Amino acid sequence: MAAGRIQTDGRLLADMVAQSAEVLAFTGAGISTECGVPDFRSPDSAWKRHPPIPFDAFLASQDARLEAWRRKFAMDDLYAGAQPGRGHAALARLHAAGKMPALITQNIDGLHQRSGIADANVIELHGNGTYAHCLDCGGRHELQTVRAGIGATGAPPSCACGGMVKSATVSFGQPMPRAAMLRARSATLSCDLFIVIGSSLLVQPAASFPLLAKENGARLVLVNREATPLDAAADLILRGDIGDLLDPLWRHSGSRPQASEKTPL
Ligand SMILES: [Zn+2]
Repeated sequence: MAAGRIQTDGRLLADMVAQSAEVLAFTGAGISTECGVPDFRSPDSAWKRHPPIPFDAFLASQDARLEAWRRKFAMDDLYAGAQPGRGHAALARLHAAGKMPALITQNIDGLHQRSGIADANVIELHGNGTYAHCLDCGGRHELQTVRAGIGATGAPPSCACGGMVKSATVSFGQPMPRAAMLRARSATLSCDLFIVIGSSLLVQPAASFPLLAKENGARLVLVNREATPLDAAADLILRGDIGDLLDPLWRHSGSRPQASEKTPL
């Protein structure tokens, strides 16, 4: 591949989107850092002070479950005010214009949904941290209720069915969600342009999707601040601020940006 693959002009991506029949975005922590959501991998990340409890430890003891909830709420308080950023907004417009039926995300912050993409069209590989669910019956539990319950009883929450209640995220050591993995594979195989945004592509099996798309004939674009293990496979690599790089997508979204948002060109 030519050295020219590494670029800083988001219009190159906008042109590729215009030439494509179906786009699939795959987003990681980088799209949410401008929104104030801490990136797990950055050296000064708050995650380092509140590391998640591994799944087997969560299952094994009540103390570990209480600690898991304490750390989760400590993290939630840090980004309680996070709002979707320019990257989320650009992708929501692309979706609304019919260009991108769904997207895959490694994020658990729910910001794609907040930007206007329906829950059914956000494929969450690592679950969702904005609610909890029962590990037995799958029933949904709201975080506010869980928090109040822990405050009142000092015990970790349990479901009416007797099951343990856990944040609806995929913890370390917990199996990947089968339905989401299957949907991600299907979406990967139907797109002709696969755009990785803000992911270091270090987490498997999630990081296998870009390669699968490429092997299936799709073009692959990487939008990230740093190099990734898949750089050699990419048709275009965009380095820089994600909001800046995705802004030109407005031109091809078929709808006008809000007055308060940055207008391209
Ligand atoms: Zn239950």
